Amino acid sequence: MQLISPEKIFRGTGAWFKSLPEIKKISKRPLVLGRSLITNNIRQQIYNDLLEDNFEIHISNLNFDCCYEDLERLESIALKNNCDSIIAVGGGKVLDAGKFLADFLSIPVITIPLSASTCAGWTALSNIYSIDGQFIKDIELKSCPKILVLDYEFIKTAPKRTLSSGIADALAKWYESSLTSSEVQDGLVQQAIQISRVLRDQLLIYGESAYQSQAVKNLSWCNVVEGCALTAGLIGGIGGEKCRTAAAHAFHNAITQILTTHKPLHGEIVGVGILLQLKLEETKNDNKLANQTIKQLLVLMKKLNLPTSIAELGINVFENDNLQKIAEFTCRNKSEIHFLPFKISQQDIIDTISNFEKQEITIS
Ligand SMILES: [Zn+2]
Repeated sequence: MQLISPEKIFRGTGAWFKSLPEIKKISKRPLVLGRSLITNNIRQQIYNDLLEDNFEIHISNLNFDCCYEDLERLESIALKNNCDSIIAVGGGKVLDAGKFLADFLSIPVITIPLSASTCAGWTALSNIYSIDGQFIKDIELKSCPKILVLDYEFIKTAPKRTLSSGIADALAKWYESSLTSSEVQDGLVQQAIQISRVLRDQLLIYGESAYQSQAVKNLSWCNVVEGCALTAGLIGGIGGEKCRTAAAHAFHNAITQILTTHKPLHGEIVGVGILLQLKLEETKNDNKLANQTIKQLLVLMKKLNLPTSIAELGINVFENDNLQKIAEFTCRNKSEIHFLPFKISQQDIIDTISNFEKQEITIS
């Protein structure tokens, strides 16, 4: 079975109000889930609108990332109050937690992303982390969200950093899927790869303008937001598991194992992962264009204030056995790194990362 998209999608200005009658058809007692203090005002507006519309709402917040400790607590709140849906309002971790919880309780989930930082509002996947934010595993859910609400008025208030992060995460779709799946004969997979190429081009063309002006009247911003929050999810839906992740996300998952006070965002780590993947392609797969591609990406990443090395993520790989730890996690049995069309050893990872972290890359 393939889970391609949410059942209903509301997008653009006023999407939240337009979605209310549809939410009402499937829920009377939602558990509204959130987390960040910065988004308090928006969540308050959502609570008020739901109350005015006679919903019996229950409210709870994540204390950490999407982790089992939080999920168990939220599950008992939902059960105790007989909640009949989860409305997840926030970034990727909140959306993942809401989806997981709803899936576990077999009730519908409504996702309301408050930034364009990931496509978590769309997908039938949840990433599970430890209480400290270390990646544990991703879990395939029984369905995509029932309703996805992408309201520009909410998204435009998100910190710019979340948009950069979303752009890096969405760019990874092309760099990962074209490498792992270009030999796959399945027509849908091929179409998904081509959508990811068009998405990459749009992000390269419009990314900077979107970052400069987060405004509904800026068409570049609208296109980029929807590319990151919607199209990136669609690519995973059409392409299936063959079109999801490879080395860039394998590096992400490994880098989260090193605890840092800096707390980089998902896409910020994935962006560095794309650069490392291209370095692997250059040395292990004789990709002669890899270095040129790195330079092209660096131009955009610098303009978007994205980190371009593991050091810029707040981690020194040359201390505390960090390099070894990243190499071991990247090459563990279940890692996405093994989807690459060439063999990779822990030593390859160590060599690639240490050379990458030592080099000074100039853009001009
Ligand atoms: Zn991602």
